[in-house]
Amino acid sequence: MTDAPRREAPPLRREGFHHIGNSTHWIVLEGVAILTDPWIAEPADGALLHRLPAQPLPCDPDVVLITHRHGDHFDPAALARLTRGSVVLLPAGKLRDRVRALGFDDVRGVTAGDRLEVRGLAIDVVRGKHSVPEVCYRVERNGRAFFFGGDTMLTPEIEALAAAKPASLVILPGERSTLFGLRFVMVPAEAIGLARRFGARQAVLTHHEQTVADRWFLRLVLRIPPPDPAELPEWFTVPVPGDFIAFPWAGGAVVSSVEVSS
Ligand SMILES: [Zn+2]
Repeated sequence: MTDAPRREAPPLRREGFHHIGNSTHWIVLEGVAILTDPWIAEPADGALLHRLPAQPLPCDPDVVLITHRHGDHFDPAALARLTRGSVVLLPAGKLRDRVRALGFDDVRGVTAGDRLEVRGLAIDVVRGKHSVPEVCYRVERNGRAFFFGGDTMLTPEIEALAAAKPASLVILPGERSTLFGLRFVMVPAEAIGLARRFGARQAVLTHHEQTVADRWFLRLVLRIPPPDPAELPEWFTVPVPGDFIAFPWAGGAVVSSVEVSS
């Protein structure tokens, strides 16, 4: 514990992007609160530790977006903390029953290509590419939009979406992680290029605090180097848990963060 003074985190109803940890983000878009890939369990998926502790999980989102079944993106312990009135979107299949069993009434299994109206948001679902099936989301309200990429690689469908529907803010992975020597997520240069093709004015790196748990077999097959911010342009932010980033249409800069003790 530390007695060091902590700056206050911005109120969670503030419009913009609040980084909670890993791929868990709290985004307030035109008054609608969106929680992405809620996660609290550590080690995530039994394999991943995190270099920086996550912020407390906000528990009353209007909409929850889940990209895929890996434990650092689909975490029943985190979902169990959320208000059951939240609408949960996740890839169609068995995950839906697991969330409904927690008491959520409105759980929507989505498929790539879907377009939904949810709580005033227009949401496009697009196919990702990862070591398991994944979807990504473009979310728009009142003409303002962001794209959330979970931990995907590039796909033709994401490229087509970027060409057809720009997004001023993109939240993208960009790392050199490998499993058995094979990539499962886009590298920094790909993320920068995709952000440009979306016409983004601001990009935020997601899914970048993890390390491999200290188990010899994991360390043998799974490599997760930390991000190098020098690889990213100044408009591509590497947030720490607690950072708040205003939307690009409202300034776009990192305006505050809480101190994170390690
Ligand atoms: Zn994953």
